[in-house]
Amino acid sequence: MVKHIGILALQGDFQAHQEKLHELGAKSLLIREPYQLNAVEGLIIPGGESTTMLKLLSLELREELTKRIQVGLPVFATCAGCILLAKHVIEPEQESFGLIDIDVRRNAYGRQVNSFITSNLKWTDRGLQATQHLNSVNNATELEGVFIRAPQITRTGSEVDVLIEHKNESNIPSPVLVRQKNIFAATFHPELSSNCKIFYQLAFDVRL
Ligand code: GLN
Repeated sequence: MVKHIGILALQGDFQAHQEKLHELGAKSLLIREPYQLNAVEGLIIPGGESTTMLKLLSLELREELTKRIQVGLPVFATCAGCILLAKHVIEPEQESFGLIDIDVRRNAYGRQVNSFITSNLKWTDRGLQATQHLNSVNNATELEGVFIRAPQITRTGSEVDVLIEHKNESNIPSPVLVRQKNIFAATFHPELSSNCKIFYQLAFDVRL
């Protein structure tokens, strides 16, 4: 079970994650230097601006993050974080860590003004299986998602489970929460919704 959760704090919405974790009684640490990763058993890579994060990320921190994620550090990457960990990033194209076998299209819903909040998110069967141990989750659980200049996951590899989908106006579903082993990636901002706890529980196996 994860006790200390690190939050990559170079740019973006790291403070809101820290506040949410604090409210829930979980211990967190803002991560800016590679050595700080020794003190955590889970990591959040927050939403924000992925290009800026890439610029601010030192080679040492990037290497240490990659190494730890590859050996199983539980990670919850949201929005820009999801973009950083993806295999391929388009529109515009951008380098990424390739740690989760998904392709993403940045700003897929349009500009800042097209950001939206929806309750139209649904757990998939896989998602319900993965959350079985959390008895707060069932098919009727209303799920809010805050999408801010959000990316879209355009491809998922065979190792990737889709846990939550969003249906657009034409009722076409697209993945918005996925998992590959120890890596969870969401295209929305869970830290801005009241149901955030479920996601931390799921990614870090914490009893909050
Ligand atoms: N559009 C941003 C990017 O490309 C991501 C937005 C977000 O994290 N809310 O990095």
